[in-house]
Order: sequence, then structure tokens, then C-alpha cells
Amino acid sequence: MTSTLPTSITARTPSSPETVPLPISLRIRQRLDAAGVAYLANDNISNHLQDGELDQLEVEVAGKVRELLRSLVIDIDNDHNTEETAERVARMYLHEVFKGRYHHQPKIASFPNVKKLDEIYTVGPITVRSACSHHLVPILGNCWIGIKPGDRVIGLSKFSRVADWVFSRPHIQEEAVMILADEIERLCEPEGLAILVKAQHYCMKWRGVKEPQTSMVNSVVRGDFRHDPSLKAEFFELVKQQESMLY
Ligand SMILES: [Zn+2]
Repeated sequence: MTSTLPTSITARTPSSPETVPLPISLRIRQRLDAAGVAYLANDNISNHLQDGELDQLEVEVAGKVRELLRSLVIDIDNDHNTEETAERVARMYLHEVFKGRYHHQPKIASFPNVKKLDEIYTVGPITVRSACSHHLVPILGNCWIGIKPGDRVIGLSKFSRVADWVFSRPHIQEEAVMILADEIERLCEPEGLAILVKAQHYCMKWRGVKEPQTSMVNSVVRGDFRHDPSLKAEFFELVKQQESMLY
């Protein structure tokens, strides 16, 4: 692939004859464009970040949030409550609520299925926290994962870790579930996989139509769960039993 992107990391502007460094986010975006790598809101770009760039990004994002607060006509220079909000928000986006974009997947080891287990099991509820990519407000919910094991298995707690990593990005719920399914298939190559997510969307609760009780439920079924209706029914029955244990 040919690229016409500048290779230099500096730019000249007509008003300043001396070279000024390009913003780190622009340098990263240029690198991703040159490599033909997508960087949509729910993509992970950790493999394309170089050492120290996340720290530089944090400084840049804090500066932009500071400007956002100023544009919202908040006196951040005199308001003790919002004095360091920009730094907090930058840290929160890059290392907490959107960490699934910038950080590598947690290390998850898989093991051979030596006993040739072939009965299905479900794990849940796993708490999932995300943000809608339309308004960047929270999506909070529960997730259940059903597995019919294949040649590899992973520990139960690892499903929580990978779900947390996948959901910690700006999302729409339907895509989050599909991306989680892709990651679990990559990790343990199950014969069958089913995922159910029930979540509340704060863009419906807190703003917009302001419906406090509405939730969204969606699922994905793959492999044997897709081909065998009785297996699929068993998954939803097991989820119902797990839910009844909550109350
Ligand atoms: Zn929204």
C-alpha cells in the first residue's frame, strides 16, 4: 500500500516558521492510517502504540478536556471542584473506562481439554461496564457466557477479565457482544459459544426519553449452540437458574 502521509513528526505553520511537534494523537492516527488499521471507537489499538505514547496521550487529552470545560463556561481556574477534573477525566478514559482501546488484553492462558469435557456450562452473571459511543454515557449490565468445550479450556475467572477488557470501550451493545464472542473463540476455540447480555443504557435513563427501567437484552450463539436448538434452550434455562440465585 502506498502512502502519501508525511513521515516527519513535525509540521510548519505559516504563522510560526519554527517547527512544532505534531500532537501525539495525530502521529498515532497517521501511523494507523499508513498501516491500514481501523481505529473505530470499539477497536483496540494497543499494538500500535509505542513506549511512552500513552503518557503523552494523557497529557494531550487532559488539555482538550480543559478546553471543553472552558467552552462549557466553567471557571476551572477558580472552581476548586473542577480544578483537576481534566486530568482525572483523561486518566479515567485512557486507563479505566476505555482501557480496552489502549491496553493489551490481559494475559489469559488456555489449557488442553485433557478429559475431553463436552458438557455445556455457563458462567455468570459477569458485570459489564461500557459507554455508548453516541453519548459516552454508561452502559451497565450483566453478561452470561455458555461454553461447549473444544480442545482448549480457560479458567472461569478469565471470562470476567476478557469481558471487562472488551466492554471497556465506547460501544453499541450488539457489537460489544460480537467482539466478546470473537475474543473467546480465539482464546479457547469452543465447539459452541453462547453469550447473553442484559444492560441498562444511561443514554435512555439519564437523558433523552429518560426511561429508568428499560434495559436491552441481546445474545449471540455460535457453533453447536446455533445448530442444536436443545443446546440453545439449555443455555437460556441455565441462565434463568443463575438469575434466580441472585434474589
Ligand atoms: Zn447513547
